[in-house]
Amino acid sequence: MIDLRSDTVTQPCEGMRRAMAVADVGDDVIDVDPTTARLQETVAEMLGMECAMFMPSGTMTNQVAVRIHCQPGDEMICEEGCHIYNYEQGGFAQLSAVIPRTVRGRTSQFEVDDVADLIRPDNEHAVRSRLLCLENTHNRGGGVILPLENVQSVCQWAKQQGLIRHLDGARLFNAVVATGVPADQWAKEFDTVSICLSKGLGAPVGSILAGPRSLQKAMRRNRKLFGGAMRQSGILAAAALFALENNIPRLADDHQHAQILAQAIKSHCDNFALDPGRVDSNIVIFKIDKPNMPAEQFCKLAKEAGVWMLPFSRCHVRAVTHLHIREEDATQAAKILCELHDKIAV
Ligand SMILES: *Cc1c(COP(=O)(O)O)cnc(C)c1O
Repeated sequence: MIDLRSDTVTQPCEGMRRAMAVADVGDDVIDVDPTTARLQETVAEMLGMECAMFMPSGTMTNQVAVRIHCQPGDEMICEEGCHIYNYEQGGFAQLSAVIPRTVRGRTSQFEVDDVADLIRPDNEHAVRSRLLCLENTHNRGGGVILPLENVQSVCQWAKQQGLIRHLDGARLFNAVVATGVPADQWAKEFDTVSICLSKGLGAPVGSILAGPRSLQKAMRRNRKLFGGAMRQSGILAAAALFALENNIPRLADDHQHAQILAQAIKSHCDNFALDPGRVDSNIVIFKIDKPNMPAEQFCKLAKEAGVWMLPFSRCHVRAVTHLHIREEDATQAAKILCELHDKIAV
């Protein structure tokens, strides 16, 4: 079975398991776990941030960020397809009483002109404009990369407006590898940045929230509030360190394998349309232009044929490449997709 459901399905390799087994650990809630501390320092350094905090999930890093940046009644501006808005149960509302203001992007990207009129006046009728959240690479947007110039211009505008800026960089390292722009250059436009270690990087668990030293106490306090303070977390941090040391450059392979799928869809499959039309990283989303073939049914057929994918809407399918997918797997998956396309076309 070629499992393209997500880049989260990966299993830790021998080396990663060994690193976990021998990790130095302590009680990171009472005081310090040494391996977790080393992970946090490593990621802070990579992102050019003053501090970083290890948490169980990307959802938690994002929601802790929203919480520490906002007061109840504050407004957060974000792209309408973003993870924070769509896939975290509206935690910003449930947990922090924050109001979302969504902006429709074009290929998940919006410009200063699209948001320039959204800042609320400072009066008693209005909520307070407080936070801008961007996502890079953009998951629901098909793994597209917001270009650095776009991120810079939108963030600089936000800064001038007095907005705090948070990056959901669950797959930031995919953007780093695809563009050659280093992580700290992306991160410096933001007050806080979250990254996932359990996506393409291949660790079993964990995300990091990085930011200024002045927010360290608030991060730790709210991580505890949300139930994310962990004891001998060095076992997990060791896996994350292994992932950072070994699995960043190879993300380029995932991107190349996504291109194999994308090319097959483009060149062979008249009834499938890449959506968005370009593939920038390791996510391929395509629309099935056949009303009698809903995505769910197609995914069932594909699974029977040996390719496991997820329906992403009624008519969209998502395929994600990752460290267990070799070039021959991508080629084989592309072949199966093309055959299935032909079979349902008649
Ligand atoms: C996966 C993901 C998250 C959340 O990570 P979890 O660890 O699954 O909670 C946040 N943002 C984006 C863009 C993601 O793809």
